[in-house]
Amino acid sequence: MNLPDLKEAKKRTDKEVLEKKVEYNFPKIFLNKKYFLRTYGCQMNVHDSEEIRKYLEILGFTETVVLEESDLVVLNTCAIRENAHDKVFGYLGRCKHLKREKPNLLIAIGGCMSQEESVVEEIKNKHPYVDIVFGTHNISELPKLLLEKKEKQNIEVYSIEGDVYEGIKYSRDSKITAWVNIMYGCDKFCTYCIVPYTRGKERSRKLESIIAEVEELKQNGYKEVTLLGQNVNAYGSDLHKGYDFKDLLEKVALTGIERVRFVTSHPWNFTSEMIDVIAKYDNIMPYIHLPLQSGSDGILKLMGRRYTKKEYISLFRSIKEKIPNVSITTDIIVGFPNETEEDFLETLNVVDICKFDSAFTFIYSPRVGTPASLIKDNVTMEEKEERLQRLNKLVNAYSLEANQRLVGNVVPVLILGENEKDKTCVYGYTDTMKLVNIEGGKDLIGNIVPIKIKEAKSFSLDGEIVKEGVPI
Ligand code: SF4
Repeated sequence: MNLPDLKEAKKRTDKEVLEKKVEYNFPKIFLNKKYFLRTYGCQMNVHDSEEIRKYLEILGFTETVVLEESDLVVLNTCAIRENAHDKVFGYLGRCKHLKREKPNLLIAIGGCMSQEESVVEEIKNKHPYVDIVFGTHNISELPKLLLEKKEKQNIEVYSIEGDVYEGIKYSRDSKITAWVNIMYGCDKFCTYCIVPYTRGKERSRKLESIIAEVEELKQNGYKEVTLLGQNVNAYGSDLHKGYDFKDLLEKVALTGIERVRFVTSHPWNFTSEMIDVIAKYDNIMPYIHLPLQSGSDGILKLMGRRYTKKEYISLFRSIKEKIPNVSITTDIIVGFPNETEEDFLETLNVVDICKFDSAFTFIYSPRVGTPASLIKDNVTMEEKEERLQRLNKLVNAYSLEANQRLVGNVVPVLILGENEKDKTCVYGYTDTMKLVNIEGGKDLIGNIVPIKIKEAKSFSLDGEIVKEGVPI
């Protein structure tokens, strides 16, 4: 048994990062068994689930989307906010009930929550029916943990700086768009964030391995790749090989894959050379997610974000100037400990200046083990909720405005699938990452189609297909 240790997880050394190969030679002993996989949280977790799915399929499992049909439940969890924690434990209640009816049901918990000491203590003490707990550093050990299934709860979570895995196989969610990990972990230690503890230190994959993965995806018909990292702008700094994110981005664009995206960028090390590369290549999409978090210099300092309001706005303007029609989205936290009304008005002021295409907004959620969780807070929950409402009203108005500006324009949309609610429609994304619903058949799926925007809503657009400038 290995239990998580947040103090260990925080340590950073100069120790060489090991490049590991993944083992896939496992017996198919779970043929005729079904697994149910539930993913919480960010794109990194979604991509990790694609890795988990591959291991389970190699072991012989087939997937079910019906919990009650499953022989194995895997919850891939998120630790970023308290409500994600509550959702997982709420769902565990359903699994516990099912296990009473199906005593051979296996339950495994992985992801960021497993890296938290308090969570694993809670699982040990209150949820003994959970069979396996694994962490973010040993997803590749899941087959072994399943094959060695012990009578007692098996907890294997490592609090280490982390390795870099190469040759990972994925059972991907899509045959059109793909996530490509370019780096793991984070060294920024924003004071509210648990990620540097749950995901280890910043460590980059080699440029040639990433390019080989993109080339392979392109050959297999993928239209779009999204380069993935907690802070992609830091890519390469740990490798000391003389290349960085702008070099990687350029090389990926030169593979000729039709669309290149990346998430997430920290404003602190977003260089003007990176902006130039994005502007230079038509297949790098004009869309940037640039987390603001707060518009108040005092709060930004307390958050450890390493930029000021002025610096953020200056970066924002320089991106807007250099990249035509770029859309910029953001993340904003309200109600950070001791945020005053003046601090909050500074945030609203940045929203007024930047008029973001959209924003993910949150009430601050303290995470055990982070420095911010120790700050005494004098902002009431009522004040936090009221600020969130005011912020959302403003953000949504600017989203609608940005969408309305597209009405009447013809934009390229990569069609991804059928609209779940209306089977006569398909949906896709513009180059600027706006969701568009279009009347049309499944034959459009996988194509980049010129679409005339007919109607704008706050969170999506409606469009119609055009042929040589004429709607059909
Ligand atoms: S940059 Fe900050 S917010 Fe983002 S993952 Fe790292 S510590 Fe967390």
